[in-house]
Amino acid sequence: MNIDYKKLKLKHWFEDENGNIVDEDDPKACFYRHCFPLEFHEFLDEYCYHPQNPIVKFLCRKSRALDKWLSKGKDKTFKQILDCTTTYGSGSDCIVAMVNSGDFTLEQAIWVYANSCERCMNVLCYKYLDGKDGYAEFSDEWKKANTECEFCKGL
Ligand SMILES: [Zn+2]
Repeated sequence: MNIDYKKLKLKHWFEDENGNIVDEDDPKACFYRHCFPLEFHEFLDEYCYHPQNPIVKFLCRKSRALDKWLSKGKDKTFKQILDCTTTYGSGSDCIVAMVNSGDFTLEQAIWVYANSCERCMNVLCYKYLDGKDGYAEFSDEWKKANTECEFCKGL
């Protein structure tokens, strides 16, 4: 293998039709590429009755009761309502340590880290980076952070 990290460092670049990096003003430029290897991508679909008629749709948005009444017996459909990305690059060291501990697979570590609130990220860093970063669960700093996610809700 001959790995050139030039494209990875650029994050955004223009290419000609042969995949060569070219300037934006180059007449051969025909692709604009973006590369984010440390990005977590998630979608959220609403799963409910979606009326086709625009007037009914408008009225259903205005009245939850009407929407509930009209949707009885109707098929539920998917409608994408959120498409979000978040980077977990700042947690690379922690994620690697989480995987190396044997507690998580790579997929699990990325998912857990990317979905953690501030205080949970700090707890993970503290635990898996041997106290070099972050803070312990239930410490004073943990209580002060006042963030909450599904991993620490109710603790
Ligand atoms: Zn949390």
